[in-house]
Amino acid sequence: MSLLALRRLSRHYAGIAAVDRVDLDVPGGGVHALIGPNGAGKTTLFNLISGLVAPSAGTIVLDGTDVTRRGPEVRARLGIARTFQNIRIFGAMTALENVLTGLHPRFASGLGAVLVGLRRVRREERQALDRAGEALALVGLQRLAGAPAATLSYGDARRLEIARAIAGAPRLLLLDEPAAGMNPAETMALAALVRLIAQAGTTVLLVEHDMRFVMGLADSVTVLNFGRCIFHGAAEAARRDPAVIEAYLGRRG
Ligand code: ATP
Repeated sequence: MSLLALRRLSRHYAGIAAVDRVDLDVPGGGVHALIGPNGAGKTTLFNLISGLVAPSAGTIVLDGTDVTRRGPEVRARLGIARTFQNIRIFGAMTALENVLTGLHPRFASGLGAVLVGLRRVRREERQALDRAGEALALVGLQRLAGAPAATLSYGDARRLEIARAIAGAPRLLLLDEPAAGMNPAETMALAALVRLIAQAGTTVLLVEHDMRFVMGLADSVTVLNFGRCIFHGAAEAARRDPAVIEAYLGRRG
């Protein structure tokens, strides 16, 4: 069974089919890429999967559970995490605190738990701190745990977002253009990090424009064009596929 199965998934905006009857199976494990020209529907598809946008039609099934009508918090609890195209971190909070905000859906003790007993709350807090520390270590930011996020370099800020997303050990991690704005050294380090995350058991689905990054990293590639899936298969085969070449060349200039 696929980890993520999309069936005839569509989202329309006033006559525009941003995502148009997409069928997609993402197997558990590995790194999978979603590519396509500008406006192809990649971000809309991510928004549909993470629950930020409701589909006009179709279904989204995560590991056998139909999540089509579930909100983003429920999907986060079920194991879908994501990062955004533009960095979304809290500058005045420390790196560690930023990662802790990512653990909220799993560790929210709430008033009920406070009534049950402070001991459990403290234990949850300790667990959350441990997990946040591990996530920061995995992305190589442990030494900056106490630094205000606003003081981080661009590359480090992007890694911090990833740390926040993986702290809850998600089953599926959606990375929206993680290499955007990174220099070649940062991009290489990012590829190594994404591999590490996949090896640790989180399936990665990423949107990326940097084709070299995608080709060297992805086990499979899905190509969207005008909201439709026009290719799904190995990265090397995508490069030679006439419909994919046409989609990219046809939009130039
Ligand atoms: P890019 O690579 O430029 O980020 P993309 O592949 O992520 O593009 P989307 O942002 O998903 O593409 O957009 C797909 C289409 O849907 C575009 O034509 C876009 O203008 C349209 N669209 C997306 N969101 C909305 C919205 N909220 N309202 C109206 N149209 C939208």
